[in-house]
Amino acid sequence: MNRTGNSHAQPGAAHVPTHWYNIAADLPEPIPPHLNPSTGEPVTAAELESLFPEALAAQELGKDRFVLIPEPVRDVYKSWRVTPLLRAARLERALNTRARIYLKFEGASPVGSHKPNSAVAQAYYNQREGVAKLTTETGAGQWGSALAFAGAMFGLDVEVWQVRASYESKPYRRYLMELYGGQVHSSPSSRTATGRAILNSESDTPGSLGMAVSEAVEVALADPRARYALGSVLNHVVLHQTVIGQEAIAQLCQYGEATADVVIGCAGGGSNLAGLSFPFLREVLTADASTRVIAAEPAACPSLTQGEYRYDHGDFSGLTPLMKMHTLGHDFVPDPIHAGGLRYHGMAPALSHVVNLGLVEPVAIAQDAAFHAGVLLARSEGLVAAPESTHALAAAFAYLDSTRREETVVIGLSGHGQLDLPAYLDILSSHSR
Ligand SMILES: *Cc1c(COP(=O)(O)O)cnc(C)c1O
Repeated sequence: MNRTGNSHAQPGAAHVPTHWYNIAADLPEPIPPHLNPSTGEPVTAAELESLFPEALAAQELGKDRFVLIPEPVRDVYKSWRVTPLLRAARLERALNTRARIYLKFEGASPVGSHKPNSAVAQAYYNQREGVAKLTTETGAGQWGSALAFAGAMFGLDVEVWQVRASYESKPYRRYLMELYGGQVHSSPSSRTATGRAILNSESDTPGSLGMAVSEAVEVALADPRARYALGSVLNHVVLHQTVIGQEAIAQLCQYGEATADVVIGCAGGGSNLAGLSFPFLREVLTADASTRVIAAEPAACPSLTQGEYRYDHGDFSGLTPLMKMHTLGHDFVPDPIHAGGLRYHGMAPALSHVVNLGLVEPVAIAQDAAFHAGVLLARSEGLVAAPESTHALAAAFAYLDSTRREETVVIGLSGHGQLDLPAYLDILSSHSR
């Protein structure tokens, strides 16, 4: 199980968690409810069921502290979980820090990111409730490939709208989606009313996640055998991701650490950071832990640091419920950046809420700083981080630069960057010129 030849090798196996953790049970103030856009009233489970299967609608509104992970889901998880928690001693030396750095590496999954933690659960519940097809959006292709993989595990058709900028610049994840049996369209597409309207008014748009969500939702609403699946933002997605933090806590304990002083992750829609940090925040909320959590977002799409905290739609056309979140506006189209998975206008209501409560501190990271951090990681530990994950690294390095404390820092590496090498090459060649 020693995946890197690290001198601080990983101690014995931790277990795949048996439950997901729901932070709603422990918050001093409830997460503001999603609203029905036509009535302005909190959405009901019945309303959510036009988009999602009953079990997921219930999880979206649920308040139970622990939710049992169904055995078929846990069984698929076991093919790559528990993911490594690596002590990054060579990186510590390269940074000349007294902190102990641990990397929680979600790039170990079959598709190379944390996203199958929710995709597998969503595919399972949909299949169990008789759904034949899932529709979804994807940016860089991480969520689309996670859902295509999950669809293959449970025998579901998967149809994906991929943001045009990524569809054109990152073909390999499309090949991966197609390998798993998924069908992929560039978004905006001429297959939906939303897509046709956008193409008419703005034919050269790079696309956005908000537009792709609208297209996927439109198709799901029109087909009784289809449901929509969202890869981030929603409470049930955040819930599924909490396997990450629960494992990390158990693994730190095996290294002899009581807990983390600081937890840092990147935030696009907020799900991997919430999944990593909420189990730590449980110890802050219910015990006497004082773990700091830092959310690293891209400077090009700074919803937490520059957005407003208000009700907004999750998609471009306003088909999803209104959600209270840090948002740049549902019609915001971020510049194309390499970290396609971070180009979302809003932020998970659950993460927005804990930021608002002061439990999570946001920082915005420039793309260049992020990639330089990724290069340092590759040259010290050998790991190639996803462009999204390099934002967490850069935020961590900036933090470590500001302190000489001997503390325990956990960095969430949400994915690997083996399919993002052209983006790394851009950075390297712009410096050798
Ligand atoms: C999608 C993605 C993200 C951003 O999504 P969150 O919901 O914020 O986690 C981050 N990293 C990787 C590797 C991704 O694929």
